[in-house]
Amino acid sequence: MSKRIFITGIWHETNTFAATQTGLDDFHAYQYAEGDEIFAAFADTNTEIGGAMNAAIELDLNLVPGLFAGAVPSGLITAAAFNTLVERTLELLMGAGDVDGVLVHLHGAAVADGVPEADAAILAAIRQQLPPDIPIVATFDLHANLSEALIAGADALVGYDTYPHNDMGARGAEAAQILHRMLWSTKRPTKILRKLPFAPPPQVQGTAAAPVAGIMAKMHDMETWGGIWSASIAWGFPYSDVAHLGVGILVQGDDYSHATRIADDLALTIWHQRGDFDAGLVGVEEAVRSAMAAPQGPIILVDVADNAGGGAPADGTTILAELLDQSASNAVVVIQDIQAVRIAKALGVGGMFSGNVGGKSDDLHGPPVPLVGSIIFQQAVRYERRGDYMTGQQIDLGEVAVIQAGGVTVMLTEAKAMPFDADHLGAAEIVAERQQIIVVKSAIAWQAHFRAFAKGEIYVDTPGVCASNLARFNYGNLDRAIYPIDEDGIYPPK
Ligand SMILES: [Zn+2]
Repeated sequence: MSKRIFITGIWHETNTFAATQTGLDDFHAYQYAEGDEIFAAFADTNTEIGGAMNAAIELDLNLVPGLFAGAVPSGLITAAAFNTLVERTLELLMGAGDVDGVLVHLHGAAVADGVPEADAAILAAIRQQLPPDIPIVATFDLHANLSEALIAGADALVGYDTYPHNDMGARGAEAAQILHRMLWSTKRPTKILRKLPFAPPPQVQGTAAAPVAGIMAKMHDMETWGGIWSASIAWGFPYSDVAHLGVGILVQGDDYSHATRIADDLALTIWHQRGDFDAGLVGVEEAVRSAMAAPQGPIILVDVADNAGGGAPADGTTILAELLDQSASNAVVVIQDIQAVRIAKALGVGGMFSGNVGGKSDDLHGPPVPLVGSIIFQQAVRYERRGDYMTGQQIDLGEVAVIQAGGVTVMLTEAKAMPFDADHLGAAEIVAERQQIIVVKSAIAWQAHFRAFAKGEIYVDTPGVCASNLARFNYGNLDRAIYPIDEDGIYPPK
C-alpha cells in the first residue's frame, strides 16, 4: 500500500525594513490553496509541489494535501496572519488522519511579528503534532537565513541550488526522494550546519556567475561523495534584521565527521572569497548617460534597491526621474501606482495623462515624479509566465496603463510586476527587444530572460529597502559583526 505523505507549505521572504506588514490578504492575493486545489494549482509547474507531485507518481507516494500559502516578498508578517496559517496547517494535518511522512515547503527567511524564526516555528508546530518517528523533509529558498532551530525542525532539508531560481521542481522531487528513503528505515542523516558572519547582497548571489558558480560546482561535486545525502548553501536574505542573518552551509550525510569536514571546507572556501562579492554599482546619472550612448540596446538598468521580488514597493522613481531629465528615448520603466492607473483608466486610451507617478508607498524610493504623456494602452492584464523562471505561474497585474512621455514609456500597474520575464511588457504591447533602455526592478531574477537579448547591463546605485549597499541600513538584532555590513567578521567563531 502506498505511503501517505502530508504536503504543505508557507512561503515568505520577509524584508523587515519594508514599511508595511504582510497580512493574510497578501497571501490570498498571491498564492493560497488548500486541499486538492493545491494539486490543480501546481500540477506541471516548476515549483516544489509540482516537482514533488511528479516524484510521488514515480515513487508511489500518496500525497495528502495541506495548504500552500505564499505572499510576494514584503514586510513583516502580522502575528494574526502567521497564527492563522500555522493553525490552519495543523487543522489540516489533524484532519489528514495517520500519515507516514511530511513534506513542508518553506522559504527560510520568513519573519513574523514577534517570531524572528518563523520557518523554524512552523516546523516545530508540525513536529509537535506528529509521532517522533514520522519523518519530515523541508525545502527552502537559496535566500534562506538558516538557523539551528530550523535545521532541528526537520529530519532533512533541501535548498534551491540556483539563482535565478529555476530548480524548484527538481528540489521538490529531491525532497520527496529523500523522504521516500526514510519511510522504510529508521536511518536519518546527520545534519551539519555552518553559519558564516557574511551576508552578500542578492545581486552578487547569482549562481551562474563567479564567485558563486565555482563554489556551487565544488558543493555539487562533494554531494556525489559516498555517504552524502544532500548539501545546500543558503546565501541569505540580508534585508532581514535577525540574529541568524547570513550565509548557511548545510551538509547531510551518514557520517558525522565526513559531513563536518565537507561543511567546514565549503564554509572556509566561501569565507576566503568574501572580498570577491563586489556589487559594482554605478551612479544613476552616469548609468542613464551610458545606456543612452550605447551603440545598441537594450541596455538593462537594474534597480536592485526597488526589487519587486524582494519586498520593495516597485514604485521607486530615481531612475525614471533621471530618464525624463536626460530626455532619454526608447526607454521603458514599470511603476506600481494604483492611483495613477485609475486616473489613466478614467481618461482612456488616447487621453492625455498628467499627474504624479510612483514614490507613494513610502519615502525610501524617491519622491513622486510629475509625468505628462499620452495614454497608449489601458486594460486589465493577466498572463501565465512562459519563461524558465516560475514557469506557469498565473500573474494578475490588475488594471494597467502605458503612458508615452516623449521617449520614455511608463507602464503603470495596480499590482507589482516582477520582471522574471518580459511577458508583462508583451501583455501591454511593449516589445522588450526593441527598447534602448529597460529598467528592471529586480536583483538577479531578470537575468533568466533578459540576458539572452540585452546588449549590456548596469547595476544602478539607487536608494531603497533592497539596496545593495548594506551600510545604508540600521540593523538592531545582529549579535556579531557581519561582513560587509561591518568592516569584517570573525570566522571560525572563537
Ligand atoms: Zn529566493
